[in-house]
Amino acid sequence: MKRLIPTLILAVILCYSGRLFAQIQQSEVERIIGVLAADDMMGRQAFTPYADKAADFIAGEFKRIGLKKWNKMKSYLQTFPVYQFSVSELSVSAGDKALSDAFASTSEKEIEWTQDSGIKNLFIGEGDNFREMFNEYRRSEESAVVWIHSAHKPFFSRYASFAARAGRTIGPIKPKTIVFVISDEVPAAYRIRMSAKVDTQNLSNVVGYIKGKRKHEFVLFSGHYDHIGILKPVNRDSIANGANDDASGTTGVITLAEYFKKQGKPERSILFVAFTAEESGGYGSRYFSNQLNPDEIVAMFNLEMIGKPATDGPNSAWITGFDKSDFGQILQRAVAGTQYKFYADPYPSQNLFYRSDNATLARLGVPAHSISTTPIDVDKDYHQVSDEISTLDMAHLTNTIKAVAAAAATIISGKETPSRVDPSDVD
Ligand SMILES: [Zn+2]
Repeated sequence: MKRLIPTLILAVILCYSGRLFAQIQQSEVERIIGVLAADDMMGRQAFTPYADKAADFIAGEFKRIGLKKWNKMKSYLQTFPVYQFSVSELSVSAGDKALSDAFASTSEKEIEWTQDSGIKNLFIGEGDNFREMFNEYRRSEESAVVWIHSAHKPFFSRYASFAARAGRTIGPIKPKTIVFVISDEVPAAYRIRMSAKVDTQNLSNVVGYIKGKRKHEFVLFSGHYDHIGILKPVNRDSIANGANDDASGTTGVITLAEYFKKQGKPERSILFVAFTAEESGGYGSRYFSNQLNPDEIVAMFNLEMIGKPATDGPNSAWITGFDKSDFGQILQRAVAGTQYKFYADPYPSQNLFYRSDNATLARLGVPAHSISTTPIDVDKDYHQVSDEISTLDMAHLTNTIKAVAAAAATIISGKETPSRVDPSDVD
């Protein structure tokens, strides 16, 4: 008898949760990931029409599910500009001498400086450590001229090409130009003129939510829908489908939206975001995090590469940055007694906490963690054209989505609230 009672209770719990999560169906998971990772999405690379095509599909799913539009947006697409500055003209002269070994990185259309413009002058001397000082100076918070002794010219030329490569930036733009010039000293008198052209391209996150009783407390589920596009052909295949990275996580976000929408009004509001450009600079999560009060995000479940079983088995998933908040422990408690298991990221040397969109929100104090299941240290398909649906385990993917739904229950119901991440603990 003593054994019977717990077994009975467990059977009731499993049965109940089985019925509840039966709404998360493998056939639906297969349908969604089938669209996202199809060849006609051409690898969903940000800044290509194929990323827009994927975003439109996800927005259509959010509409079908009946999510609310976020933050007075007119559509589910959170579209924002990304600016790219490229220098078209640069001239530097000292006295009447032209200094032609020069390049600039900029977020301004035009500058005209002299020694009297109040611009900071920095100098890398003959005996100085070029690489160290160059890396420090190029990150300078304010505009500057970096004068570099000609002894460093070979390094200068090597670094010039990559440092001058047009950087992309999202608004608001902070005007800043750093000019690097070969000169054996800081000249007493100089003149610098630069003009640059700016290209503007649009990117879109896809955002929807379910309004809860607590209107200003949000539980966030996210995944990035972009991938890396077209690669060098292998066996005549050049499309990096990104089935696992991160069509799997995006499928999780859509499926969870559908599941939670059917549960009726939650206690806490639930926010669903498919991020753009995770693979090309993290612009999507950066823009998104600037549009909200991070204190209102109670927890962030970022789903990354959940299509392949973890080494601990098909019903287990791991959490990055496990020690940075008690989010992981809350998830573990929420699924205690079920077949699911959550544990700390087993690959700390891979720095996975910092390799996805969660880190952007963690820097703002949000308990923001990635949940993943792919043995990244041995995965042969990571960022390859072979990251195809055929390499995934659909039953595992479906189970992981159910596990996340179960694990989030106590946070959504307001019973548990993860501790905040200490931003000083995030690089
Ligand atoms: Zn990814």
